[in-house]
Amino acid sequence: MVIVVLKPGSTEEDVDKVVELAKKFGFDVNLSKGAEKTIVGIIGDSVYERRGAFESLNCVEEVIAVLKPFKLVSREFHPQDTIVDIDGIKIGGKHFEFFAGPCAVESMEQMENEAKFLSSLGVKILRGGAFKPRTSPYSFQGLGIRGLEILKEVANRYGMKVISEMVAAEDFDVFEKYVDIIQVGARNMQNFRLLEKLGKSGKPIFLKRGFMSTVEEWLLAAEYLFHHGNDKIILCERGIRTFEKYTRNTLDISAVPLVKILSHLPIVVDLSHSTGRRDLIPPLAKAVVAVGANGAMVEVHPDPEKALSDGQQSLNFQEFEKTYKTSMKIYKMLGVKA
Ligand code: PEP
Ligand code: MN
Repeated sequence: MVIVVLKPGSTEEDVDKVVELAKKFGFDVNLSKGAEKTIVGIIGDSVYERRGAFESLNCVEEVIAVLKPFKLVSREFHPQDTIVDIDGIKIGGKHFEFFAGPCAVESMEQMENEAKFLSSLGVKILRGGAFKPRTSPYSFQGLGIRGLEILKEVANRYGMKVISEMVAAEDFDVFEKYVDIIQVGARNMQNFRLLEKLGKSGKPIFLKRGFMSTVEEWLLAAEYLFHHGNDKIILCERGIRTFEKYTRNTLDISAVPLVKILSHLPIVVDLSHSTGRRDLIPPLAKAVVAVGANGAMVEVHPDPEKALSDGQQSLNFQEFEKTYKTSMKIYKMLGVKA
């Protein structure tokens, strides 16, 4: 349903114009004439998508959406939590998982160290970028397909699953082969052709929030995936751009409970990109568990000072171990099922 508010001083003819347009689309109409304002309630399938036709009329002041623009990902459509199952690893509901590893895959040796250490702690999902969406063309761009091969080889050795970012639809076949969860990065959240391609696949998708996107735009991006047939979607809050300069982004912690009200999809928080500061990861990790997120992504590097990308927001092994253990303690203390 949408509500069409007419401008003050609108005539009977103006009202008729709105009503006729609604009827032309086959919608039902509910008219309310006040002393100062006339409003027309318009009800029907796809009425939200047609709202532009009403907004174009000169006599219309405003069109207000009553129902949410997203449907398939909404809580109303699916009241129970969606749990994305990756060969027995459950993301969603009361579950909590870490997604850890370096910003970028740099070498076999680095990844071997990472997987050995992380799996010994109990981390099941190994992250690592192979196709890096860098702001500058002169920054390290990632190892490409070789990076994915390394990631998969070490993950297999240590019984882990792999998550990596895909930046172009034409890379899908290689991602299908090597990657268990395909990440859509913040810069690509509204790359609708990419979403369409991934929506038609059966792969679990990790959909990051664009740093300039509202929660509604983010959920509509998820709606694209669902609409094209893929319901294995994990949302990831990764910070948004604000006026604050001490942090790279501002972590919108409120997005976690808000998304849980609006949607049935699991939500994870990226603790590295959300502030860009390694010293903020340990305290924020506690908040993320306590607020009810389904997991946390953390960049971890054997030697962050030498990392080829994002060392400033990566934890070393010792720091990560501490954060991991504290988070798990809180998780168990809150009485949520492991
Ligand atoms: C990443 O996770 O490697 C990354 C580039 O994140 P984002 O898309 O959130 O910037
Ligand atoms: Mn990074």
